[in-house]
Amino acid sequence: MTEFFLAGSLSRRIKILCGMVCAVLVLFGGLLLDEAARMQSSLGWVAHSAEVLKTANQAIGHLRAAESAQRSYLLNHEVEQARIIDSESQQARRAAGTIAWLTLDNPSQNARAQNVRALIDDRAANLRESAMQIRQRDPAEPATSARGHFIMLLVEARLGDFLTEERMLSNSRMAAATSHLDGIRWLVLGGVPVTMLLIVLMGLVLIRRIRRPVEAMMAVMSQFGAGDRSARIEGAMRSEEFERLAYGYNAMADELAVAVADQNHSEERLRIANLELSRNSEDLRERSEVIELLGGMAHRMQAARTDEELASVIRVFVPRVLTDMPGALYAHNNSRNLLVPIAAWGGLEVESSGFAPDQCWALRRGQSHFVIEPGSDIVCAHVLNNPHDQPDHYHCEPLLAGGEVIGVLYLKGVVQAENRFRLTVLTENIASALVNHRLQRGLREQTIRDPLTGLFNRRYMEETLALEVARALRSKSALSLVMCDVDHFKRYNDEFGHDAGDAVLQAVSAEMRARFRDGDVICRFGGEEFTIIAPGTDAATLSNRVNMVRQAISELAVHHAGRTLGAVTMSFGIATWDESMERDGSTLITAADGALYRAKREGRNRVTIDKRAEAEESSAA
Ligand code: GH3
Ligand code: MG
Ligand code: MG
Repeated sequence: MTEFFLAGSLSRRIKILCGMVCAVLVLFGGLLLDEAARMQSSLGWVAHSAEVLKTANQAIGHLRAAESAQRSYLLNHEVEQARIIDSESQQARRAAGTIAWLTLDNPSQNARAQNVRALIDDRAANLRESAMQIRQRDPAEPATSARGHFIMLLVEARLGDFLTEERMLSNSRMAAATSHLDGIRWLVLGGVPVTMLLIVLMGLVLIRRIRRPVEAMMAVMSQFGAGDRSARIEGAMRSEEFERLAYGYNAMADELAVAVADQNHSEERLRIANLELSRNSEDLRERSEVIELLGGMAHRMQAARTDEELASVIRVFVPRVLTDMPGALYAHNNSRNLLVPIAAWGGLEVESSGFAPDQCWALRRGQSHFVIEPGSDIVCAHVLNNPHDQPDHYHCEPLLAGGEVIGVLYLKGVVQAENRFRLTVLTENIASALVNHRLQRGLREQTIRDPLTGLFNRRYMEETLALEVARALRSKSALSLVMCDVDHFKRYNDEFGHDAGDAVLQAVSAEMRARFRDGDVICRFGGEEFTIIAPGTDAATLSNRVNMVRQAISELAVHHAGRTLGAVTMSFGIATWDESMERDGSTLITAADGALYRAKREGRNRVTIDKRAEAEESSAA
């Protein structure tokens, strides 16, 4: 029984317990019905006895009424009494027959009833005989015979026995009915509490079986709800239904735990992806800023006309791209094969003489070279040789274009990993700007210089002259111009050939370049004619220098193709600008040309000053 309660289906248990309660109820109900039926039967017999007793009393009553009518006739002689006697004795007989019939179920009582019936029949016959006598007006007295009286006594005695017996029967039947009633009462008094007790016991047992697993499950569920994803229903559930429920719940919790873990995992991945995305977008933003900054820098560098302009752009922009890093930019000078500093920033001092390419490991290896702490790598000679600064750590980035060295970017400090991108783009920009600048300078040189002599050409001379006139006007300073021409130049061509003539032109050009001042602009005007613009110089001062130049040229020994060409002389005409002249310098050229013409006419190999200038000189003197 205990086994049965510890395992198996809860609903089966409930069914069995309900079945037991029903069986008990049916048992009590059956017993009650049985007792009721018995009681009903007993009461039936009691009623039967009452009927028998009533009929017996009626029989004797009718007999007595007939006798009473007989006696009444004797007193009043009323013939009417005969009819009453007949009727009453007839009814007495009928009642006696009924009694016999009613007691058929009880042989002993029936025997008594038959006896009584025979006696009543006998007495009735006796009474009907007297009634007949009355009707026939028999003068004889109706027989109130002694026999009739005797029969009547017998009837009363026998009927008395019969009634006594019937009353006893009735009493015993009444007692049986009462005892059945008691039985019913006892069944009700006993059955109801027993059934109630059974139901209460069943309820208690079921509540116990249900409460424990439900409490265990609720505890686990609230544990799970509070965040303990490992909470599971353990231990026996004591019924199939709760076992299944616990199994289902555990499976659901497992699924949920897996789903939550999955979700956490995806959330983590999403978070990482987000982080990466924001990092990337931050990177992109920074890169686009750098590119914009470098774009502005590149634009300005392309537009820079002079080396100084280029240096200014670099000095402004490089510290903005690589903050807190002093440094210098060296450009490669091809003709001297030297790295010459073109700009320095962040308070860094560098040797203006520059250094040879093999003094820098970055240039030797063609890749970045850096020392991030003392002794971590070999130190470049140009760093060691710098008397102004001996840094513990520095960075050299080569500037290369098509395998050719363009320059080197020298930075004091360590370039952090996050600044590598900036450095790479910066060096690429600077390298291409330097190449461009160099090309532009070459092109410009080509457009302003005469290829044979390397002197400025006539167009450049005219542009410069207009600028110098404006400057002289502004600063009220002197401006003089020399026109000169090789004497009898045609002869060199004719005697030695055109190449020899070219050699003469190159020789006199080199001499003039060497002899005139740095600020003087020496140009080839055309053919074998030259122009020298001498700002800030008056004609007298200039004529001394021009004479010196003339002298030097006349002493030149020009060689060509292994032969010595004859002496070269030149004639010079000098003019000084005054405010009456055209501002484009054309009048000044004409004036100098006039002076040159005069020098030719006066015998060549001489210096002549324009008349106006000469007059001014003498008036000033
Ligand atoms: P003068 O003393 O009067 O100046 O006589 P000249 O012979 O120097 O003057 P002219 O104007 O008669 O001759 C100039 C010559 O210079 C004519 C031309 O063939 C020559 N010539 C002009 N340009 C060049 C050049 O670039 N190279 C060479 N070899 N000869 C040139
Ligand atoms: Mg000439
Ligand atoms: Mg000439």
